[in-house]
Amino acid sequence: MKMPSWQRAVLKVGSALIAPDDTGTSSKYLLAIARFIIECRERGQEIVLVSSGSAAAGRKHISYDGDSIPVTIKKAMAAVGQSDMMANWSRFFDFPCAQVLMTHGDLRDRARYVSVRNTLKTLLEHDVLPVVNENDALATDEMKVGDNDNLAAMVATLVDADALFICSDIDGLFDADPRVKPDAKKIDVVNEITEEIFALAGGTTNKIATGGMRTKIEAAEKATSHGIDTYIVNGRKGATFEHMLRGDNPGTLFKRQQDPMSNKKHWLRHTLIAQGELVVDEATANALTNGAALTTMGIIDIQGDFNRGDAVVIRNGGNAEAVAKGICQYSSHELLHLKGQEISDIAETYGYSPITEVIEANDLMILEDA
Ligand code: GLU
Repeated sequence: MKMPSWQRAVLKVGSALIAPDDTGTSSKYLLAIARFIIECRERGQEIVLVSSGSAAAGRKHISYDGDSIPVTIKKAMAAVGQSDMMANWSRFFDFPCAQVLMTHGDLRDRARYVSVRNTLKTLLEHDVLPVVNENDALATDEMKVGDNDNLAAMVATLVDADALFICSDIDGLFDADPRVKPDAKKIDVVNEITEEIFALAGGTTNKIATGGMRTKIEAAEKATSHGIDTYIVNGRKGATFEHMLRGDNPGTLFKRQQDPMSNKKHWLRHTLIAQGELVVDEATANALTNGAALTTMGIIDIQGDFNRGDAVVIRNGGNAEAVAKGICQYSSHELLHLKGQEISDIAETYGYSPITEVIEANDLMILEDA
C-alpha cells in the first residue's frame, strides 16, 4: 500500500465543516476528520490542527439577524464559540488537545514568533494535539492575520511541516467557477502559482468565514515557497480522508518549490507587513537585486510613517516596480533628513556617525517577480 510521504502536517478545517448549519458546532463532518487524525498519529505522523469555527459556533449563543455582523458582536461570538469548538474536538480524542490562540502580532515580532514555534514543537514532542486559531476575541484589524488559510500556512512554516491540508467544502481549485459553470474541471496539480491561478479565485460567499479560494491560494503560495506541499480538499466527503491516508491526492495539490526560502527570508516576505515604502534610484535598485545593502545615498523618497525595525517595501523610482522588502534601521522621520546623503556628510552635518546601512543585505528580501 502506498503511504503518505509526509511526517508532519498542518490540517486546516474551515467553519463550514465545524458549524455547517449555523446552529452551533456539529459532529457531522468532524468524525471522518478526527478518524484521519487518530490514524495518522498511530502511524507516527504528527498533526497540528488549525480550526476555524469559533465565530460560527458562537452564533448559537449570541444571535444576530442582519447580514453584516458588527465587529464587537463577531468578537463576542468568537469568545463564546471558541470553547464550544475546542470541546467539540476534544470529545473525539483520548489524547489531550491544547488550545493555542494567536494573532499576527505574535508572528511578526521575531522573538514572539520563535516563542510560539517552541511551544508548538514542545506540544508535538509530548504527543498533544495543538488546536490553533486566531485570537478573534481580542485581535484588532492591525493585529490580525484575518483568515485561517493564511494562518495555517504561517503555522505550517512555523513548525516546519512537510504538508498542509486545507479542508473546505469544495473539491479543490477549478478552471472556472463550478457554481456558475457546471462543466468546470478540477485542477489536480498546480506546479507554479501564477497570476492566472489567482485569477481563478472568486471571493467568499459565506457570511461568517473570511476565506475563499483567494486566501487558499495565498496560503499555498506561502507554504510551497517554504517547501511544503499544499492540498485543498473537500472535508465534507469521507472518501477524501481515505485517499489522504493512502497518500493519494483527492483535491488540488500545489507542489512545493524545490528551492525553499530560508526561515528568516520567508518570515520577512510572508509574515511581516510593510509599514511604508522607500523609493530608490534605478542604479540602487539594480545594486540591491545583486545583493548590495541599502544605504542613504540611493533613496529618493520616503512614504508612510514607520519606526526603526519596521518592514518596508523598496520601489524602483525608474519604473515604479517593487524590488525588495526589508527591515529598516531608521524611522521614516529620520530618513527624511538622511535620504540622498553620503554617510560621511551626515557625520559632518549632524556630528554623529549613524549606522551605515539603512537595510542590511541579510535583512533584505528581493521580490522575485520584480
Ligand atoms: N478565526 C475564525 C473563526 O474561528 C475563522 C477565520 C476564517 O474563517 O478563516 O471563526
